[in-house]
Amino acid sequence: MVDTCPICGGSVTAMHGTVEWDVKGECVAVSGVEHAMCSQCGEVYFEGDVSSYVHRRAVDEYKQRHGLLSGTEIRALREKLGLSQARFEKLLGAGPKTVVRWENGTVFQNGTADTLMRVLRDHPSVACTLMEEKGLRAS
Ligand SMILES: [Zn+2]
Repeated sequence: MVDTCPICGGSVTAMHGTVEWDVKGECVAVSGVEHAMCSQCGEVYFEGDVSSYVHRRAVDEYKQRHGLLSGTEIRALREKLGLSQARFEKLLGAGPKTVVRWENGTVFQNGTADTLMRVLRDHPSVACTLMEEKGLRAS
């Protein structure tokens, strides 16, 4: 952890609490985060991969605010259907590496994909039929 701010030279203090994260220009608060803050300019520093963890939580929060399924919910649906990410992409007609990006929160699904996933989640018989049609039925 840095103890001198590389931006202003002020002293940096380790803390535990809420940080604010920008998601598509919107400010999202994420609580319970280990971080360090410059007492002079207020710049926040994270250790290791904490920033990607904060990003994921912020994106989940943002999606909830906008009524989109979170990465965790998408993963849970895919696992419930017993599909790999590649097979789930085939089921949805999505491009390669799309689902991993949705699940990690690096890319957001659009409203159409979100609706389709909700239908698959809430109507298992539809999911079943579609998987059969696409040759994705678990054998
Ligand atoms: Zn500073």
